[in-house]
Amino acid sequence: MVSRVIPVDPFDLVIFGGTGDLARRKILPGLFRRFINGQMEDTSRIIGAARSDYDDAAYRKFVGEALKEFVDGGDREKKQVAEFLKQIHYIQIDATGTGGWDDLSELLRDDVIRAFYFSVAPSLFGALAERLHAHSCAGPKCRIVVEKPFGRDLATAKELNQTLRDHFDESQIYRIDHYLGKETVQNLMAVRFANVLFEPLWNAQFIDHVQITVTETVGVDGRGDYYDKSGAMRDMVQNHLMQLLCLTAMEPPARFAPDAVRDEKLKVIRALDPIEPDDIVRGQYVSDKKGDDFLDQVEDKDSITESFIAMKLAVSNWRWAGVPFYLRTGKKMKARHSEIAIIFKEAPHAIFGQAAGRHQNILVIRLQPNEGMDMLVTIKEPGQGGMRLLDVPLDMSFAEALGEDGNAPDAYERLIMDVIRGDQTLFMRGDEVEAAWAWTDPLIEGWMSREEKPKTYEVGSTGPEEAAMLLHREGRRWRDIKP
Ligand code: NAP
Repeated sequence: MVSRVIPVDPFDLVIFGGTGDLARRKILPGLFRRFINGQMEDTSRIIGAARSDYDDAAYRKFVGEALKEFVDGGDREKKQVAEFLKQIHYIQIDATGTGGWDDLSELLRDDVIRAFYFSVAPSLFGALAERLHAHSCAGPKCRIVVEKPFGRDLATAKELNQTLRDHFDESQIYRIDHYLGKETVQNLMAVRFANVLFEPLWNAQFIDHVQITVTETVGVDGRGDYYDKSGAMRDMVQNHLMQLLCLTAMEPPARFAPDAVRDEKLKVIRALDPIEPDDIVRGQYVSDKKGDDFLDQVEDKDSITESFIAMKLAVSNWRWAGVPFYLRTGKKMKARHSEIAIIFKEAPHAIFGQAAGRHQNILVIRLQPNEGMDMLVTIKEPGQGGMRLLDVPLDMSFAEALGEDGNAPDAYERLIMDVIRGDQTLFMRGDEVEAAWAWTDPLIEGWMSREEKPKTYEVGSTGPEEAAMLLHREGRRWRDIKP
């Protein structure tokens, strides 16, 4: 099944931080894949901008090497790489200085879309925004893309929003959360709002609880001191898990349009109850291997920053009254695994007797590995006497079901093309980010003021014992984390 690729209008995309890690690993390879896919016109240009002393030729070499490292060999035909590199340019620029800005202004064209990707530390956003205006690079039709972290609390997020709004209209600001660019996450909306099958059941009457899991096997290696100022709550929950929660719990928007969707997501965040300390478990990993504990990898040996967090949330509205949402995320866990699991209630009356056991339908939206969905359906166990029941998955792997199209664009490529198209649906609005911080801040302040030490968990495990108890005490259990 091959769908038609619609090219986007010609553009000039300036990547501030074009020599950085994110540009090398994600942005440039993503743009290359969109190029070979036919989505990028050959009049479009990508302009790297940073302080490093490169010219076009040296930057093209840098980009060529990034493609070698981060794009599959099969996708990298020499001729295509050479064609792509012709569209690459470089401007040496200092976000906080004056050099390079006039060159950039001269290079940009008036008759194409202009997008500026701020792939630099947030402390430089203000300087960039100011200079873009001062040097007439920004116009009413230009867009800016900003990366996480979007603040570290409500006050800093507000400040950052204000800095950007001093220079750009909200309709020009694209706050990226790459989780929203994942095909499965968008499919969650398709499943809910394009099928009659699920939406009637999507409420407290039929859903027992929801589990959202995002686990990693990597630790904080090399970024310990940066991570120590953040922790799992700021790094993962306030943004990524919160966005997944919003898409799962939101009301159907009247139409699939940026503000219609974002209004509904915002209502979910505002409906979240404050959480009791008993409903949060924070953890730090420990290991038998010398030097491999979380505390070995940060400077502050008394750090109480969490590398794991699990929590029980309540969305206090008519649809979700009484349905717990359990969230967990952690580093150095048993497997790299991300999913949203909707666990339905048991059938209201068991006609098959005790031997049939207890069964619940589960809809699993898998983000990784192997993006797709599973629906666990209860059937009769084959060949057994009597009526013994079994839960089997109706499995839909996108790669298998959709063939070539199942190899959907990586989240970054998809989102960058949305920026060019001017579609903000999958980007966070300023008020959403602020609402998420307003909910997060008191929780963090709470454990900081209580000087609460995280529980420990073994590297390669499923997290602290106490996280399991969070569900056990209510007769539930976490789903397994599988590689
Ligand atoms: P990085 O590797 O440290 O790169 C920073 C980039 O900024 C470099 O290209 C650097 O180039 C440029 N830069 C620094 N100071 C500058 C200045 N005064 N003027 C112009 N350019 C300047 O950082 P990164 O990992 O790419 O991250 C970039 C942003 O994305 C950060 O906000 C980060 O939090 C966010 N982010 C990154 C990832 C990731 O996977 N890497 C994931 C999510 C979010 P020169 O030294 O040549 O100037």
